[in-house]
Amino acid sequence: METTLTKDKLLFTPGPLTTSMTVKQAMLRDLGSRDIEFINTVKQVRNGLLVMGEVSQAQGYEAVLMQGSGTFGVESVISSALPKVGGHLLVIINGAYGDRIAKMADVHGITKTVLKYAEDEYPSLEDIDSTLQQNPSITHAVVVHCETTSGIFNPIKAIGEVVKKHGKTYIVDAMSSFGAVPTNIAANQIDFLVSSSNKCIEGVPGFSFSIIQKDALNACKGNARSLSLDLYAQWEGLEQNGQFRFTPPTHTILAFWQAVQEHTAEGGVIGRSARYQKNYNLLVAGMRDLGFKEYLSPEKQGYIISSFLYPEDANFDFKKFYELLNSMDYVIYPGKLSQVDCFRIGNIGHITEVDIRGLLGAIKDVLLEMGVSLK
Ligand SMILES: *Cc1c(COP(=O)(O)O)cnc(C)c1O
Repeated sequence: METTLTKDKLLFTPGPLTTSMTVKQAMLRDLGSRDIEFINTVKQVRNGLLVMGEVSQAQGYEAVLMQGSGTFGVESVISSALPKVGGHLLVIINGAYGDRIAKMADVHGITKTVLKYAEDEYPSLEDIDSTLQQNPSITHAVVVHCETTSGIFNPIKAIGEVVKKHGKTYIVDAMSSFGAVPTNIAANQIDFLVSSSNKCIEGVPGFSFSIIQKDALNACKGNARSLSLDLYAQWEGLEQNGQFRFTPPTHTILAFWQAVQEHTAEGGVIGRSARYQKNYNLLVAGMRDLGFKEYLSPEKQGYIISSFLYPEDANFDFKKFYELLNSMDYVIYPGKLSQVDCFRIGNIGHITEVDIRGLLGAIKDVLLEMGVSLK
């Protein structure tokens, strides 16, 4: 039977993203959850993730897959890592994803202390140090690596040094950076790193994963506030018989294994990072040429997703801008900042400089059509 596929719009978003045809084709199978081929694929995926994080089982790290989107993965860590008695979480926030983690702590009745910063500022290492000094009851600290709200890259290594100086467990939401920003998990002293299938590894949505230092994983036993998000039980299941406790996203995992192989073929994290940086450099140069201004100062701006300020021209209307681009098959993303009017353009997914050039051309045409002049 012949399959006809229409060409989809290009996604310049934080995910789900544009994926390769071969990743999509890898899903055209029906494997049972107990099928030996599927079980072996899960094993290869778990190993592949450790390689991407520059760690190994021999070094004492484990990769655990969890059904659901990235948020489910972060919640599985927060609700499994913090002890039921005496757990106290320091949440370091400079964007909406940090806020979301604070909300998780509230839902699960976990004691929390919050350090909150503006969305265009790095968290202060001095504040983290003094907060840990003054609150010895804090047991865990969590921060987002690439805060997708703005696109800022937070200094996870320096934060890890402060957290570890005080002997605390360190959790990093690396959802939108892992696989494209070199992150040696051991060197960054990360105990729990969380990411998902549909970001920089360019798989399709359906599961999240954590890479966990073994002692920190063992400490999760019996802590879970939820049956389905119990990280320790999930790991135990995967170890005992290679299976998920509940229906696995079989098609998503087959697509992800194909995505992992394509990631390796591109040169691993270094290769992927190089393509995304090219995309980013071209995008920012082109947007500046058109007269757009970035929200973040360039040294804080990561190469994953960029925030651009709304132009001051009265003819600019974001809804119209978005819809016109959408009608030309280019999908951008609204802003998520609390104070400033911005829109976002992602550089991630199966897109290249050719696509970025196409997008820039479309933006130019749309500005003309709207009667917006930026210079
Ligand atoms: C995408 C993302 C998440 C997870 O969001 P989902 O909608 O659950 O996939 C969490 N943190 C960050 C920083 C993200 O970019």
